[in-house]
Amino acid sequence: MAAALRIGVIGGSIAGCAAAVAGSRAGADVTVYERSAAELQDRGFGIVIPPPLHEELVGSGYLDTDMPTAPVGTRVWLTREPGGRSARELARQASPVTPCNWGLLWRSLRASAGGVRYLRGQPVASVRHESAGLAVIASTRGEEAYDVVVGADGHASATRQLLAPGLRPEPAPYMVWRGAIPLGALAGHPRELDLLRGAWVTLGFPGGHGIFYLIPGGPQDGDGSTGASNRLLAYAIYGRPPEGAEPGPYVQELAKEHFPAAWADIVARGGRRATACHPVADVQAPRVARP
Ligand SMILES: Cc1cc2nc3c(=O)[nH]c(=O)nc-3n(C[C@H](O)[C@H](O)[C@H](O)COP(=O)(O)OP(=O)(O)OC[C@H]3O[C@@H](n4cnc5c(N)ncnc54)[C@H](O)[C@@H]3O)c2cc1C
Repeated sequence: MAAALRIGVIGGSIAGCAAAVAGSRAGADVTVYERSAAELQDRGFGIVIPPPLHEELVGSGYLDTDMPTAPVGTRVWLTREPGGRSARELARQASPVTPCNWGLLWRSLRASAGGVRYLRGQPVASVRHESAGLAVIASTRGEEAYDVVVGADGHASATRQLLAPGLRPEPAPYMVWRGAIPLGALAGHPRELDLLRGAWVTLGFPGGHGIFYLIPGGPQDGDGSTGASNRLLAYAIYGRPPEGAEPGPYVQELAKEHFPAAWADIVARGGRRATACHPVADVQAPRVARP
């Protein structure tokens, strides 16, 4: 019997775990190198995926059927009333989405990749091609040769340099603020909560927009259940970075200046621990694989 194909995956996040599932289902011997020693499941916010993709991932065994989601079928577009502080509805459309909790999504993919060697706290120092079609991954474990190496090491991928030397992501002129906050932040805002129970909301403002939607809470949130009683409010606000101000807290100023009062109040209640901001970069790789 031929020896199993050896696949080395660099990065054990969403793409890395998905590649590991694909490889192990095809009968390969898969090793994942993840730089972070911490549990990735404890990070992340909301992530919206199209229902057909969710169905495909469940149907093909990448995601567990029991992974909680918070599907809604409608998208509501809001803006602030000109000259006022109340919300004005611009449009309402059928737009089914499957909002997920990033941590639960990762956990489900990770469980599906249960049989693979997953090395946590194991940064890859370099990867290089060798003769005979092999690639060599160097880490603190030494050098290990693989038939296939998958670079799933994120936006600043070092593996990408093998495919496109010198290609660097270009900073985009906007950044994103994300939050995943307990529904207590909507106390006193029953109309907004009611809206979010049936729709995802896009809030437009000059120079950017925000999206708001409910996601399943994890075991450490709410009542800890996997049911509809355990929800978080997730948001992602895309806007221009502030000039000369600390970017993190700026989202509250931005919301105060541009959002309807209720939505600005909800963002202000998020607190720092439940929110994060990061710059965005664009990169267009001329190729994604090489023999
Ligand atoms: C912790 C986290 C939370 C996120 N939360 C959200 C969210 O809630 N919603 C959303 O839409 N997007 C989120 N993002 C944005 C992200 O781009 C995507 O959602 C998704 O995670 C992209 O998956 P990825 O596997 O391609 O890359 P990433 O998630 O960026 O993962 C890359 C992985 O590679 C590892 N790595 C990098 N270099 C090396 C190396 N040299 N050796 C070994 N390992 C290495 C990193 O530690 C990381 O785990 C998040 C990203 C991260 C990392």
